[in-house]
Amino acid sequence: MNSITPERLAKAFAIPKKDEVVNAQKLPVRYHVETGVDTENRVEKFLQTMATILKHTNYGFALDHFARVTTRCSRCTAACPIYEVTGSPKDVPCYRSGLLLDIYRRHFTIGGKVRARITGDLGLTEDIIEEMAGSFWDCNACRRCTNDCPMGIDHALITHLSRWILAEMGIVPRAMVVSTREQMIGDSHNTSAIPLPALLDSLEFMEEEMEEAKNAPVKFPTDVEGAEYLFVAPVSDYMMEAETLMGIACVMHATGASWTIGTKNYDAINYGLFYSDQVLERLVNNIEAEAERLGCKKILIGECGHASRSAKYFYNNFAKHTKRPIINILEYTYDALKAGKLNFDTSIITQSVTYHDPCNIARQGWIIEQPREIIKAFIPNFIEMTPNRRDNYCCGGGGGSVSIDELRPYRTTVSGRKKAEQIAATGADMVIAPCANCKKQVRETLEDNEVATELVGLHDLIYKALILSPDGVAWREPSDDMDWMGGDEDFVPPQEAEAKG
Ligand code: SF4
Ligand code: SF4
Repeated sequence: MNSITPERLAKAFAIPKKDEVVNAQKLPVRYHVETGVDTENRVEKFLQTMATILKHTNYGFALDHFARVTTRCSRCTAACPIYEVTGSPKDVPCYRSGLLLDIYRRHFTIGGKVRARITGDLGLTEDIIEEMAGSFWDCNACRRCTNDCPMGIDHALITHLSRWILAEMGIVPRAMVVSTREQMIGDSHNTSAIPLPALLDSLEFMEEEMEEAKNAPVKFPTDVEGAEYLFVAPVSDYMMEAETLMGIACVMHATGASWTIGTKNYDAINYGLFYSDQVLERLVNNIEAEAERLGCKKILIGECGHASRSAKYFYNNFAKHTKRPIINILEYTYDALKAGKLNFDTSIITQSVTYHDPCNIARQGWIIEQPREIIKAFIPNFIEMTPNRRDNYCCGGGGGSVSIDELRPYRTTVSGRKKAEQIAATGADMVIAPCANCKKQVRETLEDNEVATELVGLHDLIYKALILSPDGVAWREPSDDMDWMGGDEDFVPPQEAEAKG
Protein backbone atom coordinates (compact mmCIF):
# COMPACT_ATOMS: atom_id res chain seq x y z
CA MET A 1 0.00 0.00 0.00
CA ASN A 2 1.38 3.42 -0.98
CA SER A 3 1.64 6.17 1.59
CA ILE A 4 -1.22 8.61 1.64
CA THR A 5 -1.31 11.16 -1.16
CA PRO A 6 -1.67 14.89 -0.48
CA GLU A 7 -5.01 14.81 -2.34
CA ARG A 8 -6.45 12.07 -0.10
CA LEU A 9 -5.12 13.85 2.97
CA ALA A 10 -6.83 17.08 1.92
CA LYS A 11 -10.07 15.19 1.36
CA ALA A 12 -9.84 13.55 4.77
CA PHE A 13 -9.48 16.91 6.48
CA ALA A 14 -12.10 18.73 4.38
CA ILE A 15 -15.13 20.08 6.20
CA PRO A 16 -18.16 18.27 4.75
CA LYS A 17 -20.64 20.79 6.09
CA LYS A 18 -22.41 23.65 4.39
CA ASP A 19 -21.10 27.17 5.07
CA GLU A 20 -24.29 28.14 6.90
CA VAL A 21 -23.75 25.27 9.36
CA VAL A 22 -20.15 26.31 9.99
CA ASN A 23 -21.24 29.92 10.44
CA ALA A 24 -24.04 28.96 12.82
CA GLN A 25 -21.66 26.90 14.91
CA LYS A 26 -18.85 29.47 14.65
CA LEU A 27 -16.51 26.53 14.85
CA PRO A 28 -14.42 25.21 11.95
CA VAL A 29 -14.73 21.58 13.04
CA ARG A 30 -15.55 18.62 10.79
CA TYR A 31 -18.40 17.29 12.90
CA HIS A 32 -21.84 18.72 13.63
CA VAL A 33 -22.31 20.44 16.96
CA GLU A 34 -25.76 20.81 18.52
CA THR A 35 -27.60 23.78 17.04
CA GLY A 36 -28.31 26.77 19.25
CA VAL A 37 -25.03 26.56 21.19
CA ASP A 38 -24.02 29.91 22.65
CA THR A 39 -20.57 30.68 21.27
CA GLU A 40 -20.03 33.98 23.09
CA ASN A 41 -17.39 34.40 25.84
CA ARG A 42 -15.92 31.00 25.19
CA VAL A 43 -12.60 31.76 26.88
CA GLU A 44 -14.30 32.70 30.13
CA LYS A 45 -16.64 29.71 29.95
CA PHE A 46 -13.80 27.29 29.25
CA LEU A 47 -11.78 28.50 32.24
CA GLN A 48 -14.81 28.47 34.55
CA THR A 49 -15.72 24.93 33.47
CA MET A 50 -12.15 23.72 33.85
CA ALA A 51 -11.93 25.30 37.32
CA THR A 52 -15.16 23.59 38.38
CA ILE A 53 -14.04 20.17 37.17
CA LEU A 54 -10.63 20.53 38.82
CA LYS A 55 -12.31 21.55 42.07
CA HIS A 56 -14.68 18.59 42.20
CA THR A 57 -12.47 15.81 40.84
CA ASN A 58 -8.92 14.47 41.09
CA TYR A 59 -7.96 15.55 37.58
CA GLY A 60 -5.92 18.40 39.05
CA PHE A 61 -3.41 15.96 40.56
CA ALA A 62 -2.95 14.18 37.25
CA LEU A 63 -2.60 17.42 35.26
CA ASP A 64 -0.18 18.86 37.77
CA HIS A 65 1.96 15.75 37.57
CA PHE A 66 1.88 15.59 33.77
CA ALA A 67 2.64 19.32 33.46
CA ARG A 68 5.74 18.88 35.65
CA VAL A 69 7.21 15.68 34.23
CA THR A 70 6.80 16.03 30.47
CA THR A 71 10.20 16.19 28.81
CA ARG A 72 9.07 16.68 25.18
CA CYS A 73 11.37 13.81 24.25
CA SER A 74 9.06 12.79 21.35
CA ARG A 75 9.10 9.07 22.02
CA CYS A 76 5.30 9.13 21.88
CA THR A 77 5.48 10.53 18.36
CA ALA A 78 6.61 7.26 16.81
CA ALA A 79 3.82 5.38 18.59
CA CYS A 80 0.91 7.40 17.23
CA PRO A 81 -0.66 5.92 14.08
CA ILE A 82 -2.13 9.29 13.18
CA TYR A 83 1.22 11.05 13.25
CA GLU A 84 2.68 8.18 11.21
CA VAL A 85 0.19 8.94 8.44
CA THR A 86 0.06 12.75 8.48
CA GLY A 87 3.57 13.59 9.70
CA SER A 88 2.06 16.83 11.03
CA PRO A 89 3.64 18.41 14.13
CA LYS A 90 0.07 19.05 15.31
CA ASP A 91 -0.47 15.28 15.54
CA VAL A 92 2.42 14.71 17.93
CA PRO A 93 0.68 13.37 21.06
CA CYS A 94 2.67 15.68 23.33
CA TYR A 95 1.75 18.71 21.23
CA ARG A 96 -1.97 17.91 21.44
CA SER A 97 -1.85 17.30 25.20
CA GLY A 98 0.23 20.44 25.55
CA LEU A 99 -2.79 22.49 24.42
CA LEU A 100 -4.48 21.70 27.74
CA LEU A 101 -1.35 21.41 29.89
CA ASP A 102 -0.27 24.92 28.84
CA ILE A 103 -3.67 26.27 29.91
CA TYR A 104 -3.32 24.46 33.22
CA ARG A 105 0.17 25.89 33.83
CA ARG A 106 -0.80 29.42 32.77
CA HIS A 107 -4.16 29.76 34.53
CA PHE A 108 -4.10 27.28 37.40
CA THR A 109 -0.60 27.48 38.89
CA ILE A 110 0.99 30.33 40.84
CA GLY A 111 4.17 30.11 38.75
CA GLY A 112 2.17 30.40 35.53
CA LYS A 113 0.28 33.44 36.74
CA VAL A 114 3.47 35.17 37.86
CA ARG A 115 5.26 34.39 34.59
CA ALA A 116 2.28 35.75 32.64
CA ARG A 117 2.62 39.10 34.42
CA ILE A 118 6.24 39.31 33.35
CA THR A 119 5.89 38.00 29.81
CA GLY A 120 2.42 39.33 29.02
CA ASP A 121 1.22 35.86 28.04
CA LEU A 122 -2.55 36.09 27.53
CA GLY A 123 -3.04 32.34 27.90
CA LEU A 124 -6.23 30.84 26.52
CA THR A 125 -7.66 32.41 23.36
CA GLU A 126 -10.57 31.72 21.03
CA ASP A 127 -8.09 30.31 18.50
CA ILE A 128 -6.80 27.76 21.02
CA ILE A 129 -10.36 26.66 21.84
CA GLU A 130 -11.03 26.13 18.14
CA GLU A 131 -7.83 24.16 17.74
CA MET A 132 -8.77 21.97 20.71
CA ALA A 133 -12.29 21.43 19.36
CA GLY A 134 -10.79 19.85 16.25
CA SER A 135 -7.63 18.27 17.62
CA PHE A 136 -9.12 16.35 20.55
CA TRP A 137 -11.58 14.60 18.20
CA ASP A 138 -8.71 13.70 15.84
CA CYS A 139 -7.14 11.64 18.65
CA ASN A 140 -8.50 8.08 18.98
CA ALA A 141 -7.78 7.98 22.73
CA CYS A 142 -6.17 4.62 21.97
CA ARG A 143 -3.36 5.03 24.56
CA ARG A 144 -0.70 3.53 22.29
CA CYS A 145 1.48 6.59 22.92
CA THR A 146 1.12 6.19 26.69
CA ASN A 147 2.73 2.74 26.49
CA ASP A 148 5.84 4.41 25.05
CA CYS A 149 6.03 7.49 27.28
CA PRO A 150 8.87 7.08 29.81
CA MET A 151 7.06 9.53 32.09
CA GLY A 152 3.74 7.69 31.98
CA ILE A 153 1.78 10.59 30.54
CA ASP A 154 -1.75 9.48 29.72
CA HIS A 155 -2.66 11.39 26.58
CA ALA A 156 -6.04 9.69 26.28
CA LEU A 157 -6.94 10.95 29.76
CA ILE A 158 -6.00 14.48 28.71
CA THR A 159 -8.06 14.06 25.53
CA HIS A 160 -11.01 12.85 27.63
CA LEU A 161 -10.79 15.76 30.07
CA SER A 162 -10.45 18.31 27.27
CA ARG A 163 -13.49 16.88 25.50
CA TRP A 164 -15.44 16.98 28.75
CA ILE A 165 -14.68 20.68 29.28
CA LEU A 166 -15.61 21.44 25.66
CA ALA A 167 -18.79 19.34 25.94
CA GLU A 168 -19.94 21.31 28.98
CA MET A 169 -19.75 24.39 26.72
CA GLY A 170 -21.79 22.64 24.02
CA ILE A 171 -18.81 21.84 21.80
CA VAL A 172 -19.38 18.12 21.32
CA PRO A 173 -20.24 16.01 18.27
CA ARG A 174 -23.99 15.89 17.78
CA ALA A 175 -23.88 12.14 17.13
CA MET A 176 -22.69 11.62 20.70
CA VAL A 177 -25.28 13.88 22.27
CA VAL A 178 -28.29 12.59 20.33
CA SER A 179 -27.56 8.94 21.14
CA THR A 180 -26.70 9.58 24.76
CA ARG A 181 -29.78 11.72 25.29
CA GLU A 182 -32.00 8.90 23.98
CA GLN A 183 -30.22 6.46 26.28
CA MET A 184 -30.56 8.63 29.39
CA ILE A 185 -33.98 10.27 28.98
CA GLY A 186 -35.58 8.82 25.85
CA ASP A 187 -38.40 6.28 25.79
CA SER A 188 -36.20 3.43 24.57
CA HIS A 189 -33.27 3.98 26.99
CA ASN A 190 -30.76 2.91 24.36
CA THR A 191 -28.45 4.64 21.91
CA SER A 192 -30.06 3.16 18.79
CA ALA A 193 -33.62 3.86 20.02
CA ILE A 194 -34.65 0.21 19.54
CA PRO A 195 -38.07 -0.19 21.14
CA LEU A 196 -38.60 -3.19 23.40
CA PRO A 197 -41.16 -4.92 21.10
CA ALA A 198 -38.63 -4.78 18.24
CA LEU A 199 -35.94 -6.23 20.48
CA LEU A 200 -38.18 -9.09 21.63
CA ASP A 201 -39.21 -9.77 18.05
CA SER A 202 -35.58 -9.90 16.99
CA LEU A 203 -34.67 -12.27 19.86
CA GLU A 204 -37.49 -14.60 18.87
CA PHE A 205 -36.37 -14.57 15.25
CA MET A 206 -32.79 -15.40 16.22
CA GLU A 207 -34.02 -18.28 18.41
CA GLU A 208 -35.81 -19.73 15.39
CA GLU A 209 -32.68 -19.34 13.28
CA MET A 210 -30.56 -21.12 15.92
CA GLU A 211 -33.07 -23.93 16.24
CA GLU A 212 -32.80 -24.49 12.51
CA ALA A 213 -29.05 -24.01 12.15
CA LYS A 214 -27.90 -25.77 15.32
CA ASN A 215 -30.69 -28.25 15.95
CA ALA A 216 -30.86 -27.14 19.57
CA PRO A 217 -33.37 -25.07 21.61
CA VAL A 218 -31.06 -22.11 22.28
CA LYS A 219 -32.82 -19.21 24.03
CA PHE A 220 -32.28 -15.53 24.78
CA PRO A 221 -33.77 -15.42 28.30
CA THR A 222 -35.27 -12.07 29.36
CA ASP A 223 -36.04 -10.69 32.82
CA VAL A 224 -35.11 -13.87 34.69
CA GLU A 225 -34.99 -12.87 38.35
CA GLY A 226 -32.04 -14.26 40.27
CA ALA A 227 -30.08 -15.21 37.12
CA GLU A 228 -26.34 -15.40 37.74
CA TYR A 229 -25.38 -13.21 34.76
CA LEU A 230 -27.02 -10.04 33.52
CA PHE A 231 -26.00 -9.93 29.84
CA VAL A 232 -25.60 -6.49 28.29
CA ALA A 233 -24.52 -6.06 24.67
CA PRO A 234 -23.88 -2.89 22.68
CA VAL A 235 -27.44 -2.40 21.47
CA SER A 236 -26.36 -1.87 17.86
CA ASP A 237 -25.50 -5.59 17.78
CA TYR A 238 -29.23 -6.35 17.70
CA MET A 239 -29.40 -4.58 14.34
CA MET A 240 -25.93 -5.22 12.91
CA GLU A 241 -24.26 -8.25 14.52
CA ALA A 242 -26.84 -10.99 14.92
CA GLU A 243 -24.32 -13.79 14.40
CA THR A 244 -22.21 -12.46 17.25
CA LEU A 245 -25.26 -12.58 19.53
CA MET A 246 -26.28 -16.05 18.37
CA GLY A 247 -22.73 -17.30 19.00
CA ILE A 248 -22.88 -15.91 22.53
CA ALA A 249 -26.29 -17.50 23.14
CA CYS A 250 -24.91 -20.85 21.94
CA VAL A 251 -21.96 -20.62 24.34
CA MET A 252 -24.33 -19.83 27.21
CA HIS A 253 -26.51 -22.78 26.16
CA ALA A 254 -23.52 -25.15 25.93
CA THR A 255 -22.36 -24.17 29.41
CA GLY A 256 -25.81 -24.40 30.97
CA ALA A 257 -25.48 -20.83 32.23
CA SER A 258 -28.07 -19.01 34.26
CA TRP A 259 -28.29 -15.71 32.36
CA THR A 260 -30.71 -13.03 31.29
CA ILE A 261 -31.15 -9.91 29.22
CA GLY A 262 -32.87 -7.13 31.17
CA THR A 263 -35.76 -5.44 29.35
CA LYS A 264 -35.35 -2.14 31.23
CA ASN A 265 -31.73 -1.67 30.15
CA TYR A 266 -30.28 -3.69 27.30
CA ASP A 267 -27.60 -1.29 26.05
CA ALA A 268 -23.98 -1.62 27.21
CA ILE A 269 -22.81 1.41 25.22
CA ASN A 270 -21.35 4.15 27.41
CA TYR A 271 -20.28 7.19 25.40
CA GLY A 272 -19.44 8.89 28.67
CA LEU A 273 -16.06 7.18 28.42
CA PHE A 274 -15.39 9.37 25.41
CA TYR A 275 -16.53 12.81 26.55
CA SER A 276 -18.04 13.16 30.01
CA ASP A 277 -17.59 11.64 33.46
CA GLN A 278 -21.12 12.71 34.36
CA VAL A 279 -22.55 10.64 31.52
CA LEU A 280 -20.15 7.80 32.34
CA GLU A 281 -21.32 7.70 35.96
CA ARG A 282 -25.00 7.81 35.09
CA LEU A 283 -24.78 5.00 32.54
CA VAL A 284 -22.67 2.74 34.75
CA ASN A 285 -25.36 3.12 37.40
CA ASN A 286 -28.10 2.30 34.88
CA ILE A 287 -26.50 -1.11 34.28
CA GLU A 288 -26.07 -1.60 37.99
CA ALA A 289 -29.72 -0.71 38.60
CA GLU A 290 -30.82 -3.36 36.10
CA ALA A 291 -28.65 -5.99 37.81
CA GLU A 292 -30.13 -4.90 41.13
CA ARG A 293 -33.71 -5.05 39.82
CA LEU A 294 -33.25 -8.62 38.61
CA GLY A 295 -31.01 -9.73 41.49
CA CYS A 296 -28.18 -10.85 39.17
CA LYS A 297 -24.82 -11.70 40.72
CA LYS A 298 -22.52 -10.76 37.83
CA ILE A 299 -22.55 -8.50 34.80
CA LEU A 300 -21.55 -10.02 31.47
CA ILE A 301 -20.68 -7.60 28.66
CA GLY A 302 -20.85 -8.68 25.01
CA GLU A 303 -18.24 -8.18 22.29
CA CYS A 304 -17.50 -4.52 23.03
CA GLY A 305 -14.22 -2.96 24.13
CA HIS A 306 -15.32 0.44 25.39
CA ALA A 307 -18.43 -0.93 27.12
CA SER A 308 -16.32 -3.53 28.91
CA ARG A 309 -13.68 -1.03 29.96
CA SER A 310 -16.17 1.60 31.09
CA ALA A 311 -17.90 -1.01 33.27
CA LYS A 312 -14.79 -2.83 34.47
CA TYR A 313 -12.73 0.21 35.45
CA PHE A 314 -15.38 2.75 36.40
CA TYR A 315 -17.91 0.56 38.16
CA ASN A 316 -15.83 0.60 41.30
CA ASN A 317 -15.76 4.39 41.32
CA PHE A 318 -19.27 5.18 40.24
CA ALA A 319 -21.69 2.34 41.05
CA LYS A 320 -23.75 3.25 44.07
CA HIS A 321 -25.02 -0.18 45.14
CA THR A 322 -23.32 -3.49 45.83
CA LYS A 323 -20.34 -4.32 43.66
CA ARG A 324 -20.66 -7.09 41.12
CA PRO A 325 -17.92 -8.69 39.04
CA ILE A 326 -17.73 -7.41 35.46
CA ILE A 327 -16.88 -10.06 32.89
CA ASN A 328 -16.31 -9.70 29.18
CA ILE A 329 -17.76 -12.49 27.04
CA LEU A 330 -14.26 -13.39 25.77
CA GLU A 331 -13.26 -14.18 29.35
CA TYR A 332 -16.40 -16.23 29.86
CA THR A 333 -15.94 -18.26 26.67
CA TYR A 334 -12.25 -18.80 27.44
CA ASP A 335 -13.10 -20.17 30.91
CA ALA A 336 -15.73 -22.44 29.35
CA LEU A 337 -13.17 -23.72 26.84
CA LYS A 338 -10.63 -24.45 29.57
CA ALA A 339 -13.31 -26.23 31.59
CA GLY A 340 -13.93 -28.55 28.61
CA LYS A 341 -17.49 -27.30 28.05
CA LEU A 342 -17.12 -26.32 24.38
CA ASN A 343 -16.99 -28.87 21.59
CA PHE A 344 -15.92 -27.54 18.19
CA ASP A 345 -15.93 -28.95 14.67
CA THR A 346 -12.46 -27.90 13.53
CA SER A 347 -13.24 -28.49 9.86
CA ILE A 348 -15.80 -25.67 9.56
CA ILE A 349 -13.61 -22.55 9.37
CA THR A 350 -11.22 -23.29 6.53
CA GLN A 351 -10.31 -19.68 5.68
CA SER A 352 -7.20 -17.93 6.99
CA VAL A 353 -8.03 -15.67 9.92
CA THR A 354 -6.26 -12.81 11.68
CA TYR A 355 -7.17 -11.04 14.95
CA HIS A 356 -7.51 -7.34 15.82
CA ASP A 357 -6.88 -6.46 19.48
CA PRO A 358 -9.41 -3.78 20.55
CA CYS A 359 -7.51 -1.06 22.45
CA ASN A 360 -9.94 -0.90 25.37
CA ILE A 361 -9.45 -4.54 26.36
CA ALA A 362 -5.88 -5.19 25.15
CA ARG A 363 -3.80 -2.08 25.79
CA GLN A 364 -3.64 -2.67 29.54
CA GLY A 365 -3.05 -6.40 29.14
CA TRP A 366 -6.49 -7.44 30.36
CA ILE A 367 -7.78 -9.53 27.44
CA ILE A 368 -5.04 -10.65 25.08
CA GLU A 369 -4.36 -14.37 25.19
CA GLN A 370 -7.92 -15.55 25.91
CA PRO A 371 -9.27 -14.87 22.38
CA ARG A 372 -6.14 -16.39 20.83
CA GLU A 373 -6.61 -19.58 22.82
CA ILE A 374 -10.24 -19.74 21.70
CA ILE A 375 -9.28 -19.15 18.06
CA LYS A 376 -6.61 -21.83 18.12
CA ALA A 377 -9.14 -24.34 19.48
CA PHE A 378 -11.10 -24.41 16.22
CA ILE A 379 -9.40 -22.33 13.52
CA PRO A 380 -6.40 -24.13 11.98
CA ASN A 381 -5.19 -21.22 9.83
CA PHE A 382 -4.52 -18.31 12.19
CA ILE A 383 -2.15 -15.47 11.24
CA GLU A 384 -0.98 -12.79 13.69
CA MET A 385 -0.90 -9.24 12.40
CA THR A 386 2.12 -7.10 13.23
CA PRO A 387 2.33 -5.37 15.67
CA ASN A 388 -0.15 -7.09 17.94
CA ARG A 389 -1.38 -7.50 21.50
CA ARG A 390 -0.67 -4.38 23.64
CA ASP A 391 1.16 -2.75 20.74
CA ASN A 392 -1.64 -3.24 18.27
CA TYR A 393 -2.83 -0.28 16.24
CA CYS A 394 -6.24 1.18 17.02
CA CYS A 395 -8.94 0.42 14.44
CA GLY A 396 -8.95 4.16 13.76
CA GLY A 397 -12.43 4.79 15.15
CA GLY A 398 -11.46 4.79 18.81
CA GLY A 399 -12.57 7.31 21.39
CA GLY A 400 -16.09 7.39 19.94
CA SER A 401 -15.07 8.85 16.58
CA VAL A 402 -16.55 5.79 14.82
CA SER A 403 -20.02 7.10 15.67
CA ILE A 404 -19.41 10.37 13.85
CA ASP A 405 -20.29 9.83 10.21
CA GLU A 406 -18.91 13.22 9.11
CA LEU A 407 -15.47 11.94 10.15
CA ARG A 408 -15.55 8.83 7.95
CA PRO A 409 -13.04 10.11 5.33
CA TYR A 410 -10.66 10.98 8.16
CA ARG A 411 -11.26 7.70 10.02
CA THR A 412 -10.69 5.42 7.07
CA THR A 413 -7.89 7.23 5.27
CA VAL A 414 -5.94 8.74 8.19
CA SER A 415 -6.65 7.25 11.62
CA GLY A 416 -7.55 3.81 10.24
CA ARG A 417 -4.85 3.66 7.59
CA LYS A 418 -2.26 1.76 9.67
CA LYS A 419 -4.95 -0.79 10.53
CA ALA A 420 -5.80 -1.28 6.86
CA GLU A 421 -2.11 -1.79 6.07
CA GLN A 422 -1.71 -4.28 8.92
CA ILE A 423 -4.68 -6.36 7.82
CA ALA A 424 -3.68 -6.27 4.14
CA ALA A 425 -0.16 -7.43 5.05
CA THR A 426 -1.49 -10.63 6.65
CA GLY A 427 -3.27 -11.65 3.43
CA ALA A 428 -5.94 -13.23 5.67
CA ASP A 429 -9.41 -14.03 4.34
CA MET A 430 -11.05 -12.82 7.54
CA VAL A 431 -10.24 -10.46 10.40
CA ILE A 432 -11.84 -10.96 13.81
CA ALA A 433 -12.66 -7.77 15.74
CA PRO A 434 -14.48 -8.61 18.99
CA CYS A 435 -15.84 -5.10 19.57
CA ALA A 436 -18.91 -3.33 18.13
CA ASN A 437 -17.04 -0.08 17.48
CA CYS A 438 -14.06 -1.83 15.88
CA LYS A 439 -16.40 -3.90 13.69
CA LYS A 440 -18.03 -0.83 12.15
CA GLN A 441 -14.76 1.02 11.75
CA VAL A 442 -12.78 -1.91 10.32
CA ARG A 443 -15.58 -2.72 7.86
CA GLU A 444 -15.58 0.86 6.57
CA THR A 445 -11.78 1.04 6.53
CA LEU A 446 -11.44 -2.19 4.54
CA GLU A 447 -14.05 -0.93 2.11
CA ASP A 448 -12.54 2.54 1.62
CA ASN A 449 -9.00 1.15 1.27
CA GLU A 450 -10.11 -1.69 -1.02
CA VAL A 451 -8.76 -4.48 1.16
CA ALA A 452 -10.56 -7.74 0.35
CA THR A 453 -10.67 -9.17 3.87
CA GLU A 454 -13.97 -9.98 5.55
CA LEU A 455 -14.71 -8.55 8.99
CA VAL A 456 -16.26 -10.91 11.58
CA GLY A 457 -16.80 -11.18 15.31
CA LEU A 458 -15.24 -14.03 17.27
CA HIS A 459 -18.60 -15.41 18.34
CA ASP A 460 -19.78 -15.28 14.71
CA LEU A 461 -17.26 -18.02 13.95
CA ILE A 462 -17.95 -19.82 17.23
CA TYR A 463 -21.60 -19.89 16.16
CA LYS A 464 -20.66 -21.82 13.04
CA ALA A 465 -18.18 -24.26 14.59
CA LEU A 466 -19.68 -25.00 18.01
CA ILE A 467 -21.36 -28.41 18.21
CA LEU A 468 -24.56 -28.36 20.25
CA SER A 469 -26.85 -30.89 18.73
CA PRO A 470 -26.97 -34.59 19.54
CA ASP A 471 -26.39 -35.39 15.85
CA GLY A 472 -23.03 -33.64 15.97
CA VAL A 473 -23.81 -31.06 13.29
CA ALA A 474 -21.97 -27.77 13.93
CA TRP A 475 -23.91 -25.57 11.54
CA ARG A 476 -26.47 -25.62 8.78
CA GLU A 477 -27.12 -22.81 6.33
CA PRO A 478 -30.29 -21.01 7.51
CA SER A 479 -32.98 -21.01 4.87
CA ASP A 480 -34.39 -17.48 5.02
CA ASP A 481 -32.91 -14.04 4.59
CA MET A 482 -32.28 -12.43 7.94
CA ASP A 483 -34.30 -9.40 8.93
CA TRP A 484 -32.99 -8.44 12.33
CA MET A 485 -35.39 -5.64 13.02
CA GLY A 486 -38.31 -8.03 12.76
CA GLY A 487 -41.70 -6.39 12.24
CA ASP A 488 -40.67 -2.78 12.81
CA GLU A 489 -39.47 -2.15 9.28
CA ASP A 490 -40.20 1.58 9.37
CA PHE A 491 -37.99 2.15 12.38
CA VAL A 492 -35.16 4.66 11.81
CA PRO A 493 -32.53 5.27 14.54
CA PRO A 494 -32.57 8.91 15.72
CA GLN A 495 -29.11 9.72 14.36
CA GLU A 496 -30.07 8.55 10.89
CA ALA A 497 -33.39 10.36 11.09
CA GLU A 498 -31.54 13.57 12.02
CA ALA A 499 -29.04 13.10 9.20
CA LYS A 500 -31.85 12.60 6.69
CA GLY A 501 -33.43 15.81 7.98
S1 SF4 B 1 7.02 10.40 25.36
FE1 SF4 B 1 6.11 11.38 27.19
S2 SF4 B 1 7.65 12.84 27.88
FE2 SF4 B 1 8.24 12.22 25.81
S3 SF4 B 1 7.29 13.80 24.49
FE3 SF4 B 1 5.81 12.15 24.61
S4 SF4 B 1 4.49 12.71 26.35
FE4 SF4 B 1 6.32 13.99 26.50
S1 SF4 C 1 -4.05 8.18 22.16
FE1 SF4 C 1 -3.66 7.13 20.20
S2 SF4 C 1 -4.43 8.56 18.63
FE2 SF4 C 1 -4.26 9.73 20.56
S3 SF4 C 1 -2.24 10.67 20.46
FE3 SF4 C 1 -1.96 8.69 21.53
S4 SF4 C 1 -1.41 7.18 19.93
FE4 SF4 C 1 -2.24 9.02 18.90
